[in-house]
Amino acid sequence: MMIRRAFSANGFLILPVVLLVTYWVVMSIRGSEIELPVPAATTFLMLAVMTGLELLYPYVRRVSQRRLLIRDISSTLVNLWGTRVVGAAVFTPVVLFFPEIFLGRSLFFEASSQLGPLWLQLILVIFFYSFMKYWFHRLQHRFSWLWELHAYHHSVTDLRASNTFTSHPLDWALRNVLPPVVLGVVGFNPTAIVFGVGLLGLFGTFSHCGAGLHAGWLNHVFVTPEVHRWHHSAEVPKGHRFSVNYGVGFVVWDRIFGTYYLPSENGVPLQPERLGHPDGVRDESNYLKLFFLTRHLPRLAQLSKG
Ligand SMILES: [Zn+2]
Ligand SMILES: [Zn+2]
Repeated sequence: MMIRRAFSANGFLILPVVLLVTYWVVMSIRGSEIELPVPAATTFLMLAVMTGLELLYPYVRRVSQRRLLIRDISSTLVNLWGTRVVGAAVFTPVVLFFPEIFLGRSLFFEASSQLGPLWLQLILVIFFYSFMKYWFHRLQHRFSWLWELHAYHHSVTDLRASNTFTSHPLDWALRNVLPPVVLGVVGFNPTAIVFGVGLLGLFGTFSHCGAGLHAGWLNHVFVTPEVHRWHHSAEVPKGHRFSVNYGVGFVVWDRIFGTYYLPSENGVPLQPERLGHPDGVRDESNYLKLFFLTRHLPRLAQLSKG
């Protein structure tokens, strides 16, 4: 009860604190030796912390996700263990092709030191990675064949830490595996990539926390659950064609490119009435049906008409 009261005054301020402390502790133990196939222990720690907050502060419009738990766990395990490895193995030779063809070498920059000191590279990695993720994500809503893959993530009817990784593997790979491969082939220091990509990845989990907490000023800087809920709204906000709040981690790109959306009343952020697939396609508890995408075709037909 004491913990509950202590944090309710600060809303989601506790999340970045927990996130940064957890990240720092685990990384200082493991250094930069985290390899792509091994999902960072921080991800699971964060999922546990988020789930704890969801239980402590239930969201007023929460929708039970119990029947989907096996599907969500399956998707999480497949994406964290399988998609990372397979995606990196497929994307790396494709991306390597470009510097080899145009520059005759495997990386765009011969030495990573050409990109500046490590601290600067960390900032640059976060900058370019969040930029790439914003635009990949936006294109996934814009182009019908990409949307067909991405729509599965939009079937979820409530934000939960447990459905952060609920995505078609190819959709997930395009947003989470391809951009780090691109940064690697540019020539960034691997340590900067591991830290930068890992940090933004944890922010992704943060944005899916289903707790009913207000984020306050954090909403203007970070993609908080209050911000991300609008991205999952079953009804696209007026004036926006596909969706809003495409960013991961920071809202800066949504602000720059005009897709930031968080209405408020008397200083309190409003939240969407209902979350889910924009065409009302029912959420699917069978993980294997991820691969049978025809159920998303109504949206596809609508897009090709419009
Ligand atoms: Zn989306
Ligand atoms: Zn989401």
